[in-house]
Amino acid sequence: MNSFCELIPFLTLCREYPTREWNLTDFEIGRPLGKGKFGRVYMVRTKCEPKYILALKTLYKSEIIASRVEKQTRREIEIQQNLRHPNIVRLYGYFHDEKRIFLMLEFAGKGELYKQLSKYGRFSERRSARYIDQMADALSYLHSKHVIHRDIKPENLLLGITGELKIGDFGWSVHAPGNRRMTLCGTLDYLPPEMVEGKEHNEKVDLWALGVLMYEFLIGKPPFEDRMSVQNTYRRIAAVDLRFPASFSLEARDLISKLLKYIPDERLPLSEVLKHPWIVKNREKTKESV
Ligand code: AMP
Repeated sequence: MNSFCELIPFLTLCREYPTREWNLTDFEIGRPLGKGKFGRVYMVRTKCEPKYILALKTLYKSEIIASRVEKQTRREIEIQQNLRHPNIVRLYGYFHDEKRIFLMLEFAGKGELYKQLSKYGRFSERRSARYIDQMADALSYLHSKHVIHRDIKPENLLLGITGELKIGDFGWSVHAPGNRRMTLCGTLDYLPPEMVEGKEHNEKVDLWALGVLMYEFLIGKPPFEDRMSVQNTYRRIAAVDLRFPASFSLEARDLISKLLKYIPDERLPLSEVLKHPWIVKNREKTKESV
């Protein structure tokens, strides 16, 4: 099927929403914020009052088509435009011209979380707990809307102007149940055993990824990483070969162990993550220091 057909009816339909029809001349274009797979992201300001600052993401239609991700892109937009949560980048609207699709995104003022992690090597327990707390809250909201994220990793997380975590990428998310086949590209590090083994999966994949994320925040690298061999990473994930350095607090160790369970149903539910002593203790400390 011609891929343009995938995109056009959807975009035409969405011209009704939001009520205002936008185009590129409505914005003053500022500095580039980054480069994605299908185009650049710019800081922009609306010309009309009140002058909102936004991140404008451009996606080249030709590249979306060449990569055969029309459906995925459409799903990403559909999902993100319906989400409203302080720890999820808001999609305010979108428009297109002949060559490009433009996404009007909430501006995440402090940029990529990944850069911070690379800069500092690892995060303190308090900072990691704050992020995991925010992440668990955002995932709990997503799951209540029957959305599975499926691609949680530091590269997909941004930071708001007050340093709050924001999930910024919905490229792999699906409406539950998410048992469709995925092309596994990129890193295996965040995939749960059921996905590396090609089995059916559900929203519990995000609980596993939360455990991996927590480990990476505290140590600076994911728990099953093996830079020499993908097969070895695969084996370590399937065997849940989890090793903790001595520096890990017992509470952090406890939470990670409860998330990284081979059997999806045995993973600690998000409501319990939010009540876990490691999260609560660090939440209290953060409150005291404000
Ligand atoms: P992406 O195409 O989503 O991978 O975005 C490419 C880069 O643009 C990211 O790595 C960020 O540095 C930047 N970026 C994307 N979205 C935003 C946003 N909402 N606010 C600030 N920077 C962003």
